[in-house]
Amino acid sequence: MSSPIKTYCIIGDPVQHSLSPIMQNSAFSALGIKSSYISFRVPPRELKTSIESLKSIGIAGFNVTIPHKISILPYLDVLDNTASKSNAVNTVKNEGGQLTGYNTDLYGFIQPLYKRNIDFKGIKVLIMGAGGAAYAIVTALSYEKEIGEIIIVNRSTQNASNLVQHGLKLGLNTHKDDFNNLSKLALQSDLIVNATSIGLNNESSPIGRDNINPKSIVYDIIYKPIITDLLGKAKDVNAKVVYGYEMLLAQGAQAFKIWTGLDAPIHAMKKALFGIFGEPQ
Ligand code: NAP
Repeated sequence: MSSPIKTYCIIGDPVQHSLSPIMQNSAFSALGIKSSYISFRVPPRELKTSIESLKSIGIAGFNVTIPHKISILPYLDVLDNTASKSNAVNTVKNEGGQLTGYNTDLYGFIQPLYKRNIDFKGIKVLIMGAGGAAYAIVTALSYEKEIGEIIIVNRSTQNASNLVQHGLKLGLNTHKDDFNNLSKLALQSDLIVNATSIGLNNESSPIGRDNINPKSIVYDIIYKPIITDLLGKAKDVNAKVVYGYEMLLAQGAQAFKIWTGLDAPIHAMKKALFGIFGEPQ
C-alpha cells in the first residue's frame, strides 16, 4: 500500500510573498515524495482556531512566519531546544496530534557562516535590529562560546535592551549602542548583520560605504532584493558578503529534514528560487 499524501503549509500574515511553497514543493518533487506545501494567511485573532483546524485535518507540519513566531508558543505541546532557547518557533511537526515546535532560523543563520569557515574567536559582532529574527540570531551565536562581543543597535531602545538581556542570559557579552554611533561601530566590527526590515523596499542602509571595513563580513538577512543597498556597498569595498537567501535556504532545508527525516535536495531548492540563471556571485 502506498503511503498517504502529506500536506504541509506556512502560516503568517502577510504570507503571499513567502518563497517557502516554491522551495518545499521543489524539494518534494526532486525526491519523488508525494506531498504538497501551501500557504495560509492567518490573522493574529484567528491563530488559535487555525491551529486547531490544521490539527483536525491532519497537517503533517508547517512553518510559522510574522507575526506568529512567538504567539504560537502556548498552542504547542513540545518545544525543541532551539525553540525554547530562542523563545520563538518557525517550524512545527505534527505527530499523531502532538505538535512539536522548532526554530530552524538558528541553523539557517549560522550555516552560511560555517560554510565560509568563519573563526568566531574574539570577534566583534554588530547586529542591527531586535525583532524575532534578531532573537534567533543571538541565540544561534550563543553556541559560539568564543565570540568577543555582540552589540545591538535598534530603533526602539527598549527592544534593544530586551534582546541584550536575552544575550546575557545565554552567556554572551552583549550590550546595546545608539543608532547615531552606527558608522563608527560598523567600521570596528568583524561581522555586521542587518536583521531589520530596512532594505526590503530598496531603502538605503544607515551604514555608509565608507563605514564598511573591507576585512568585515557583511550579512543581510533580507532576501528580496537579493542584493540590498547594504550588500551592494559591502561588495563595492570588497568585503565578504552573506546573502539573506542563504539563510532562507538553510532554514528551509532544516525544516524539510525535521519533517521527512531526509537531507533536503538543496540544489533543486536553489534552482526553484533562481531558475536557470543560478545563484548570484
Ligand atoms: P520583526 O520582528 O518585525 O522585527 C523588525 C525589526 O526591524 C525590528 O528590529 C524593528 O525595529 C526594525 N525596523 C523595522 N522598520 C524599521 C525602520 N524603518 N527603521 C529602523 N528599524 C526598523 O521582523 P523579523 O522577523 O525580525 O524580520 C526582520 C527582517 O528579516 C524581515 O525583513 C524579514 O523578511 C527578514 N527575515 C529573513 C529571514 C531569512 O531566512 N533570510 C528569516 C527571518 C526574517 P523596532 O524594534 O524599533 O520596531
